[in-house]
Amino acid sequence: MFEREREELVEILKNKGITNKRVLEAFLKVERHLFLPDIMKQHAYKDVALPIGLGQTISQPYTVAYMTQALDPQPQQKILEIGTGSGYQAAILSQMGARVFTIERHHDLYNSAMKIFDKMNLRIAARCSDGTLGWQEFSPYDGIIVTAGGPSVPVNLKKQLADNGRLVIPIGDKKIQSLQIITKISSDEFLTREVPYFAFVPLIGREGWKEK
Ligand code: SAH
Repeated sequence: MFEREREELVEILKNKGITNKRVLEAFLKVERHLFLPDIMKQHAYKDVALPIGLGQTISQPYTVAYMTQALDPQPQQKILEIGTGSGYQAAILSQMGARVFTIERHHDLYNSAMKIFDKMNLRIAARCSDGTLGWQEFSPYDGIIVTAGGPSVPVNLKKQLADNGRLVIPIGDKKIQSLQIITKISSDEFLTREVPYFAFVPLIGREGWKEK
């Protein structure tokens, strides 16, 4: 279903500057409509963020593609995602062959993402907790991707990154953030590249924003 729509979406992503072939291939394969409530499915292949309940959104495909390209996950690498939401970003990473660990703080979203992973036979490890603390048990990670915007980079995430690993995280105020692409050189040396003008829902937790 929706093959033609997926092909058109991939053309849009190419035109916006996504060049990584493995990323584009994953977008052709992963069925975004499966991650959306019924009334939203008809919009699944538009390049827009869409509501998934509890005030949260499935990120815009371009944003998912941009972050995935920045992370550049290789097959068998261990990748930690903070902010499972619908589960779509995790499925893209899994489709690319990464071993995916993902954390969501809302029980309902965690439950429905788990159900979709099961149905699609995706082997993704998921938990419901505060992702700003990371997931110590399976660390270090070759890559960490945070799909909600925080006020500062959580120290635990930097700690749980492997040497040469990469952390992609939006940092800024609650409305607008820049994407920080951080490479760990050694335990106390990091290289940061910053790309401005992204808008994510807030990262809420011990090392994020406080819940109102
Ligand atoms: N990657 C998701 C994007 C969902 S929006 C997708 O592909 O659909 C970001 C998600 O981050 C929301 O579901 C929100 O509840 C969650 N979130 C915010 N702060 C969090 C935290 N500290 N730990 C885990 N999840 C968090």
